[in-house]
Amino acid sequence: MSKGTKVPGYMQGKGSRNPRGIIGDREIRYKCSLQNTILDVLRGRPGWQEVPGFQSIPPITRNSDGDWDFYWCDREWLAQNYDTMFLYEHQKILHFRNHYELTRKNLMVKNLKRLKKQTEREQGKAEGLSFEFFPTTYELPSEYHIFVEEFKKNPGIIWIMKPAARAQGRGIFLFRRLKDITDWKKGEYQPLSDPNREVPETYVVQRYIENPYLIGGRKFDVRVYVLVVSYNPLKVWLYRSGFARFSNTRFSLDSIEDTYVHLTNVAVQKNAPDYDPDKGCKWSTQQLRKYLAAKHGVEAVKKAFKGIDNIIIKSLQSVQKIIINDKHCFEMYGYDVLFDSDLKPWLIEINASPSLTASGKEDYDLKFGLLNDLLNVLDLENRLTGKEKRIGGWDLLWEDGPILADDGNMECTPNGTTASIPNSFLGCHNDRKRQLRELYTAAQSIKKS
Ligand code: ADP
Repeated sequence: MSKGTKVPGYMQGKGSRNPRGIIGDREIRYKCSLQNTILDVLRGRPGWQEVPGFQSIPPITRNSDGDWDFYWCDREWLAQNYDTMFLYEHQKILHFRNHYELTRKNLMVKNLKRLKKQTEREQGKAEGLSFEFFPTTYELPSEYHIFVEEFKKNPGIIWIMKPAARAQGRGIFLFRRLKDITDWKKGEYQPLSDPNREVPETYVVQRYIENPYLIGGRKFDVRVYVLVVSYNPLKVWLYRSGFARFSNTRFSLDSIEDTYVHLTNVAVQKNAPDYDPDKGCKWSTQQLRKYLAAKHGVEAVKKAFKGIDNIIIKSLQSVQKIIINDKHCFEMYGYDVLFDSDLKPWLIEINASPSLTASGKEDYDLKFGLLNDLLNVLDLENRLTGKEKRIGGWDLLWEDGPILADDGNMECTPNGTTASIPNSFLGCHNDRKRQLRELYTAAQSIKKS
């Protein structure tokens, strides 16, 4: 293919180079469809320049030519443009084409069930047990009859109904009696915005985790950031910082209709009558890990967090063959994980557009560092060697197989042993700035020699 030739995104731009020149000799040009922390990060990055006038163009009409090197686009834009888009060799864009295979609640479960079955068939029932991290789930209306059978086998338990494609706790409710969802069956829960809709909206009905781990009597879930830079081979980074989101009201099973008790979404909790915006409802993952270690010991916490690594890898493997892999694409997922009272982690959902709007100074600093380090991992500036296992707060968790750590982080491996420690440090100390300084100095000297 000749220099500067344009090829469609799905052909992965083999060999094509931007006629504007190789990055490294010039500024990096970016587009960003969001107006929050990511835009601040991009604007503050030395040598990066916003494509002029981009913010004033309506999203749908923004074209996809080679005038940018990096595009933090929204999912709708990608869906509308990917199939006809032409990308140069070096261009990077957020989202894989069919990211929804993992981020729509019904599809995520479908893909997980399929890989679980395949694993049981090929490696035996015992291996299938490593998939016991998502609550029993059915898609409605398509699996209504199977659900009813399951419902009857477990009288008295609580179920949660969730619209498959909505977010921020919208449309969710809990129920104990089958009668409670007959309204849904009649179509009452079809979106009001589209009264002429002929098919009912797809929901998932899921076993409600009735014994969540409580701190101060309150339920919480944990937001975990995961970066996938390639699906083939699967290459996954895990960010060591994140946060736990608490509900504002003490947990109880007496009032299952009270969303402030049962849904931990910030979007829900911030509307609670006694919500205090200064106090918020978040803990850092570091704070959580320290609390749990003090209460249950380091080994118990290591086991619990190892369970999160398993959730990440199994879920990504469940879509590995389905996602349209494209070297231009990357995805930063926000995993929602809930611990039960035995410290077992459960996968609640995976977001392709985790909120990047900060709820306070600490949240802003977390997201600013997270996104800056994401750009460090993508390394459009070509300052690194490509062999790094840690870049700022991101640790390489998987590259076609598990990655082992070079050195133990004392906080997470207190017995000092470094043998066979997975390169996974969720909730461990995040000295990202110091690490980056050392990393860039080391990379520079390797590249010179
Ligand atoms: P959304 O995409 O609308 O945020 P989620 O699936 O993340 O939907 O659910 C919202 C919240 O409801 C979660 O953050 C969690 O607190 C609670 N939740 C969801 N599913 C369950 C479950 N099976 N058991 C217990 N709590 C759940």
